[in-house]
Amino acid sequence: MAKKGICILGSTGSIGTQTLEVIEANPELFTVEVLTAQNNADLLIQQAVKFQPNTIVIGNREQYEYVKNELWQQDIKVYCGEEALADVVTNENIDVVLTALVGYSGLKPTINAIKAKKNIALANKETLVVAGELIRELVKEHQVTIYPVDSEHSAIFQCLTGEYSNPIEKIYLTASGGPFRGWTAEQLKSVTPAQALKHPNWSMGAKVTIDSASLMNKGLEVIEAKWLFDLQPDQIDVIVHPQSIVHSIVQFEDGSMKAQMGLPDMKLPIQYALTYPDRFKTDFPRFNFLDYPQLTFEQPDKSTFRNLELAYKAMNMEGTAACALNAANEITVQAFLQEKISFLDIARINEETLAKTPLITKPTLEDYIQINTAARKLAEELM
Ligand code: MG
Repeated sequence: MAKKGICILGSTGSIGTQTLEVIEANPELFTVEVLTAQNNADLLIQQAVKFQPNTIVIGNREQYEYVKNELWQQDIKVYCGEEALADVVTNENIDVVLTALVGYSGLKPTINAIKAKKNIALANKETLVVAGELIRELVKEHQVTIYPVDSEHSAIFQCLTGEYSNPIEKIYLTASGGPFRGWTAEQLKSVTPAQALKHPNWSMGAKVTIDSASLMNKGLEVIEAKWLFDLQPDQIDVIVHPQSIVHSIVQFEDGSMKAQMGLPDMKLPIQYALTYPDRFKTDFPRFNFLDYPQLTFEQPDKSTFRNLELAYKAMNMEGTAACALNAANEITVQAFLQEKISFLDIARINEETLAKTPLITKPTLEDYIQINTAARKLAEELM
């Protein structure tokens, strides 16, 4: 494999730091071209000194002077702000842009990267949830590839390798069920952010961990899968698998099913997204069947965990519905983390926002931006 130039949007978060671990373990495969962070200036500085990227961006303008001063002896360009973030992805030495920004903020830089003909390693699922239709058109027009980093979608992608144009009959996205699997609405009334932040199997950022506890993460992943693999809503099923060993399953038209398995470790899907179609040796711990004599599967509880049902609803509504739902969810998750609303309020406000936000069919980028703003405002008002 020729050395690939990597840009990491969101290098100080959970996915970003694990991506740098993968790169550090394979210095003959990758060069780090661009690193960006929103607020964590100290970690960004450390990463810049260690990996010597061409360019870094600190999102928060107030940290710019500090970062620049700390790196004055280094041959590294330092920029700040949202526009710089959207600009740096076009750098000519970049082969792959790994998007690990949280939420809606990933949309503009991803669009710019696609327009600059960069392949995308997509960890920021919200980009496809918000504007899947538009992104799919851009991907076709600019002939780039999106390599999924989300573990379930990486699993599907791995199962499809070598299948050429064999149609998919159905996919099963697996879900751990999160920390509240089996809980009743009554029990969920008083859960705290600290409880919701304790995920049984995966170590992740705060937003995705709360989304996992509320099953919104799986809902967003259903929509992400629709756009990544060009599926109809009824071709996507969710099955709860508490051990998180089977990462997802594809069922083909002859009834054959392929699953991708392994211990839950995001470094594997990250590495596969960066080295596709090759596999490189790792020292990650290996799965042992005897440690897991029983792998179990069950139905998700969609009536208690309303968010999953809402995601299907938004997907069926098409247009800007998923954009509105995602916007509401970003507001409600933040409010829950700040203890302004209860856990059950998340789905309640998400549902009301989805119902009350205007629906635009065949949306343009401007429509998505407008609906995102309107839905956020509405969700705030519904608190
Ligand atoms: Mg996932």
